[in-house]
Amino acid sequence: MKKKLALLLTCSMVMLGLAACGSEKAASSTVPTVVDGVLTMGTNAQFPPYEFYDGDQIVGIDAEIAQAIADKLGMKLEITDMDFGSIITSVQAGKVDVGIAGMTVNEERLQNVNFSTSYATGVQAIIVKEDSDIASPDDLAGKLIGVQENTTGHIYCEDDFGTENVIAYTNGATAVQALAQGKVDCVVIDNEPAKNFVSTNEGLKILNTEYVTEDYAIAISKDNEELLNAVDGALKELIADGTVQTILDKYIKAE
Ligand code: GLN
Repeated sequence: MKKKLALLLTCSMVMLGLAACGSEKAASSTVPTVVDGVLTMGTNAQFPPYEFYDGDQIVGIDAEIAQAIADKLGMKLEITDMDFGSIITSVQAGKVDVGIAGMTVNEERLQNVNFSTSYATGVQAIIVKEDSDIASPDDLAGKLIGVQENTTGHIYCEDDFGTENVIAYTNGATAVQALAQGKVDCVVIDNEPAKNFVSTNEGLKILNTEYVTEDYAIAISKDNEELLNAVDGALKELIADGTVQTILDKYIKAE
């Protein structure tokens, strides 16, 4: 596990180094986006508290951070909901400007997109039934593990426990439902959504153990360095002036 963390940290540092190269912030009117004057964000709105539906509105930490960035750049924000696994390809294909989805920076993704500075930390958590004999990541060997398709949890579990022991669901809610119905022995998913899912499903608990720690950042096309610099510059200011922390605290209550 430690190796993974170190690798992720190295990636983040490379990423920060890259972001730091472009120091001047472009004026909003000149920053090229899919639609002029609009920041189009791709996300998967099944990931509370980072993104979820409130009525027909997509809200949450990522939506608020994106809105604050758009405001700084003098742009309107538009959010497009899609499968998590389509976000990077949509960024690459120029269908959306940014992917903001509690997205972990990893080596494979860095080959396909650029990442902003990290704005939050995620931890892969393990959800089990209250009476489960699984007490730590070591106990997952030979168990049937539910994950969300195309996420880092999916990748780690296949690497560590074998493809045959992992069932991938289209989103976290469906994976947790499968656990509640006894179709899998546990679910590996990011800790904040895990807390949300456990609070709305009886008989489940989160193990008091951290499987892997990760950095969340904003994905931007490698072909749009101007946008990377603009978004990264705005995000850095929002981190420095405490706005990002205020948004995180609004949705994530201290234990
Ligand atoms: N942090 C995980 C990842 O990047 C899960 C993100 C998500 O499901 N929205 O793969």
